[in-house]
Amino acid sequence: MSAQPDLEFIKYLKDAGGDDLKKCYQCATCSVVCQLSTDTKPFPRKEMIWAQWGQKDKLVADPDIFLCHDCGDCTVYCPRGAKPSNVLGAIRAYAYTFYGWPSGLAKLASNSKGLPMLVAIPSVIIFVLWLISGGLAIPSAAEFADYGYQRFFGHWDFYWLSKNVFFIDVIMLAAAGLAVVASYNGVSKMWKGMAENAGLKNAFRPSAGSFIKEFLWPAVQEIVKHTRVRKCNENNDRVKGHLPLMLAFIGLFIVTAWSALANDVLALVPALHFLHGPMSFWNPVKILANVSAVAMIIGIGILWINRSKKEAEKGLTPTFYDWFLIWEIMVVGVSGLLAEIARWAGLAGPGYVIYYIHLVSVMMLFMYMPYTKFAHLVYRTFAIAFEKYSVSSFGKNEV
Ligand code: SF4
Ligand code: SF4
Repeated sequence: MSAQPDLEFIKYLKDAGGDDLKKCYQCATCSVVCQLSTDTKPFPRKEMIWAQWGQKDKLVADPDIFLCHDCGDCTVYCPRGAKPSNVLGAIRAYAYTFYGWPSGLAKLASNSKGLPMLVAIPSVIIFVLWLISGGLAIPSAAEFADYGYQRFFGHWDFYWLSKNVFFIDVIMLAAAGLAVVASYNGVSKMWKGMAENAGLKNAFRPSAGSFIKEFLWPAVQEIVKHTRVRKCNENNDRVKGHLPLMLAFIGLFIVTAWSALANDVLALVPALHFLHGPMSFWNPVKILANVSAVAMIIGIGILWINRSKKEAEKGLTPTFYDWFLIWEIMVVGVSGLLAEIARWAGLAGPGYVIYYIHLVSVMMLFMYMPYTKFAHLVYRTFAIAFEKYSVSSFGKNEV
């Protein structure tokens, strides 16, 4: 690995919220307060000096960077105001671009200059599909009352797969597919770097089954239970926002999975063609979708307030990395709810425009997931799995 300082990397850290990095004089107070620090691993003091030296390769392959749960304790106790938790946040933001694939898209999603293009890509794709599907026309009040948004992309008299479902499948499966491939690519690169850094390049490899059972599943459980975040002293308010948000995503995942099964599989059976139709307000799946949307708005609203408070009280610099995801999730939740309200109110024109915005925001959420703060969920899960793997019987080099 290069021992030369990467000046561009240092500049990136300063621009991305780590502007007080140079104030660190290695007193190690942060390592005393950080729960992740051990005698042999003085975290985050060690990372602060690596960052000052521009040691990019070491930092992006350091599991502790991803294990840090941004509690802010180190920043509160740092006598020099070097704000180590901000520096670590900036390193994580850099890592998601570094591991991002395709790299052009990852760079675009890394700062506010790319925002117009980030919005334009899905807006144009969905608009063109809306146009060519022949569904640009706003429905009559009667049709809107009967079908809601089920004919947004028009309809055909072919009942095996509705036209709307076909177009939504094409858009969302493409966006989600890109996110899955990009995440797999990024996590593989990260894992390889961590194994090399930890001297485990030739370590025993578990089978896929034991990897999931022994390392990945326990890591997922830790993330869901917020085990480490709950131990925060300074920033444990985030749990109040994360929990409703996580429950909202679980709820929406169930709704999406059911809709895919009902529309793409079950409705192919002639007797079940009715499943293509709009759901009534009292349908349990519809209720779950609406409750999840409300939980999403509450959760992201709490995180929004916490972030604003933290910036005001601690003088933190607002970063694109922190705010892009907050805005994006808020737009998904609010547009979803407003589209539903417009349907109840029988407002077809505004409803269709809001629904279009909703589709664009959902596509953005899927498509940019591997490059935004959302990526933390994936990289952190695998970093926890790596931590467990490295101390297990597998984490030994083959002889
Ligand atoms: S970041 Fe602050 S607390 Fe940590 S070593 Fe540097 S000066 Fe000390
Ligand atoms: S933010 Fe919390 S977990 Fe992260 S380095 Fe600082 S004290 Fe440790």
